[in-house]
Amino acid sequence: MPDPAPSPRTRARRLNYKAAYDRPTIDAILDAMPVAHVGHIVDGFPVVTPTLHWREGDRIYWHGSSASRMQKRATGEQVCVTVTLTDGMVLARSGLEHSVNYRSVMVFGRAEVVEGPEAKAAHLKTMMEQMFPGRWDQLRPITAQELKATRILSLPLTEASAKISAGPPLDPPEDVTWPVWAGVLPIRLTMGTPEPAPDLAPGIAVPDHATDYRIG
Ligand SMILES: Cc1cc2nc3c(=O)[nH]c(=O)nc-3n(C[C@H](O)[C@H](O)[C@H](O)COP(=O)(O)OP(=O)(O)OC[C@H]3O[C@@H](n4cnc5c(N)ncnc54)[C@H](O)[C@@H]3O)c2cc1C
Repeated sequence: MPDPAPSPRTRARRLNYKAAYDRPTIDAILDAMPVAHVGHIVDGFPVVTPTLHWREGDRIYWHGSSASRMQKRATGEQVCVTVTLTDGMVLARSGLEHSVNYRSVMVFGRAEVVEGPEAKAAHLKTMMEQMFPGRWDQLRPITAQELKATRILSLPLTEASAKISAGPPLDPPEDVTWPVWAGVLPIRLTMGTPEPAPDLAPGIAVPDHATDYRIG
């Protein structure tokens, strides 16, 4: 038996056989894609803001300027955060059956603010180290002013769902002989060759955490 949805609003209705609620599935998607979209309400209208996120155990985090509308308005409020990986375009024999192969996660909850400079610095270090191991300690240390200017929000992963769509087009039997190409166009995220900053001091080699960086 698959894990049940943790709450009514996380229970997938449409194509619910593609949904999953177990943490290993949810965590794997969150950890594979650092870009999230934060849905929140501003003066009664919905705003969906793209941003970076990272996971620490049972919570996801995102940060921004303390002056950012998203960070100010989402603090203490109900939000919906999504993370999406697109794995392929699915070309079927009819327009209706075209689709996308994807892995996505939706998280609901009340966004909590991280208080205190020490806690903020620790979370920012974790974010950096998850992406680029060893980099934080090589950087010019973060200042009190930079910490003050940064607001970090987080959500528990208690109300989260995943949905995964994979595989070839699923045309009805009567369409399968239709003479048009059908199949999947895989989408792969690949990293390019590191491009040094134009003002990089001479003699600084590209670090492993840059050449080893992968997403997807
Ligand atoms: C890249 C991409 C492209 C897509 N393209 C289309 C499209 O063109 N048309 C279309 O109708 N749908 C598309 N989907 C699927 C879409 O995300 C919804 O799952 C679907 O539209 C059903 O929406 P609903 O509001 O009826 O969901 P419901 O089944 O009513 O949603 C109930 C709950 O299920 C969970 N849930 C639903 N969808 C997702 C999801 N994608 N990821 C994680 N949890 C989820 C949430 O907790 C949600 O609150 C796409 C998804 C992705 C990731």
